[in-house]
Formats: sequence, C-alpha cells, structure tokens
Amino acid sequence: MLTNKESMLVGLCSECKTLLAVEGEHCQYCKPSGLFIQGREVRGEDIDSPVTYIPNHANGDASHPDAERGHISSFNDTYIFVRFRSPNGQACRPENLVWG
Ligand SMILES: [Zn+2]
Repeated sequence: MLTNKESMLVGLCSECKTLLAVEGEHCQYCKPSGLFIQGREVRGEDIDSPVTYIPNHANGDASHPDAERGHISSFNDTYIFVRFRSPNGQACRPENLVWG
C-alpha cells in the first residue's frame, strides 16, 4: 500500500509511459521547461546537452570570440542554467543559447 508521499514520488509519466519518479505528470527526462532554444523546447533529458551561449552584442554569431560553449545543468521558469568552466550553472536566457 503506497502512502501519499510515495505515490507522489513514483508514477506513470504521461509522456514516455514509463513508471519512474515523476514531478507532476512527467518524469525527470520528459519534464518540460516551457523554454525554447532555436524553437525546440528544453526538457529534462536535455540536461548535459552541449549549448553555445551567444552574448547580445554578438548578434547571433556563434563564432564570435565572446560566444561560449557549455552544457545545460538545469532550468527554471525563466532561465536555463549552463555550466561553462565552473561546476556551477550560470543563468542564461534561452534566446542567447543555440544547440551544440
Ligand atoms: Zn517520461
């Protein structure tokens, strides 16, 4: 018999239909961020994916010397956190990021 607490932690993901630890209706991999990089929504499974940060003054040029490559570490409602050279993610606006 599951207690309420246990039933909140494990459930059927509404996206991949796998019995996993869920947050709301989604497992940690399918968890949507509501944030889009180049038109593709960032989801839990994208954590650790490589992205490139392009500062505003580079005008979208990923080869600009100030563009920086890192990996997604987490996200919240507003920011995608990207690990660059340090182990801690830095808050980035999704419009400043491209995949790869
Ligand atoms: Zn899932």
